[in-house]
Amino acid sequence: MSFSASQVSNSHALIPYGWDEGWEAAFAPYAVWDLLPGRVLRVDRGQCDLITPLGTVRADTEFVVPRDPLKVVCTGDWATVDRDGDPRYVRHLLPRRTAFARSTSSKRSEGQILAANVDHAIITVSLAVELDLGRIERFLALAWESGAQPLIVLSKADLVPDPVGLSYLVEDVRTVAPGVQVLPVSSTTGEGLDVLRSLVAGGTSVLLGVSGAGKSTLANTLLGEDVMDVKAARDVDGKGRHTTTTRNLLVLPAGGVLIDTPGLRGVGLWDAETGVGQVFSEIESLAGECRFHDCAHEAEPGCAVTAAVEDGSLAVRRLESYRKLLRENQRIVAKTDARLRSEILKDWKRKGAEGRAAMEAKRGGSGGRGRQSGR
Ligand code: ZN
Repeated sequence: MSFSASQVSNSHALIPYGWDEGWEAAFAPYAVWDLLPGRVLRVDRGQCDLITPLGTVRADTEFVVPRDPLKVVCTGDWATVDRDGDPRYVRHLLPRRTAFARSTSSKRSEGQILAANVDHAIITVSLAVELDLGRIERFLALAWESGAQPLIVLSKADLVPDPVGLSYLVEDVRTVAPGVQVLPVSSTTGEGLDVLRSLVAGGTSVLLGVSGAGKSTLANTLLGEDVMDVKAARDVDGKGRHTTTTRNLLVLPAGGVLIDTPGLRGVGLWDAETGVGQVFSEIESLAGECRFHDCAHEAEPGCAVTAAVEDGSLAVRRLESYRKLLRENQRIVAKTDARLRSEILKDWKRKGAEGRAAMEAKRGGSGGRGRQSGR
């Protein structure tokens, strides 16, 4: 059965959730089967809630690539799901545009996807306390690594009544955030909120920041009401029962989507070396001028990085922060290396076996095309 015209137009119901031509194209190959497109609103214990053209449905997630923690269904994913059935199953994940992952504190140290297909990472920093630039850099690394565009929101701007003082603080943050918009806002006076609303209207956002940074207040302000009320939704489950569930993906009244998952509040770095490089782009470009390709910027002759520190064009704090984040990242990578190596090995073995099977099918066939591999 194919996806009829009326059902395609029904998928317009998904537009407030971020459905666009790109997702429509990604879903097209599956539309010939009797599947619905849907976006994951929340995940728990092997099941998830998805918004589909038929409304919110609950589905099992077990069919989607098991054992690979980076391919587990997560909030924000676009997926294909059975049109009906009890239970329904999620069948495929559409390729992610971006993904937030973290290292877990568990011994297995597996990556864990916290949110997928995020466009804007709103790093919330409170002006009620002293700025911690190193912490901002850490969140920036995480944001860049995910593929989302970071945006720094300085909350509680009303607590800095002196405009000159405020502009100094904004300037301090700008120096550690090349290529990133820095926006002071106040939920009390309304300062900056219209700009923020229009920035997030065009996509999916997450709020990052330490506790006390003002994320909940900001979420309430963007949603126009109390988040906990909005998150509790009355749904009908597969058996027609009414249930109250918590949603982690919420549509904003002024446009856009906000993902608020518990895990995102305590994020650490997860193999964010690329992200670290983007945060410290000026150090990375200086490093390109060092005499030695593998310069550690310690005491090597012809080191452009230490030269920049000496002539004052690069702050020592910035270099130390860069080193600290790289070290932290290497520790996480080292912990996961053993697991990754064995996964990669398994993958190569499987591909090798598939390749051999395809070659044999080709030889055994009547000069036609070899058997298509399943992937
Ligand atoms: Zn160097």
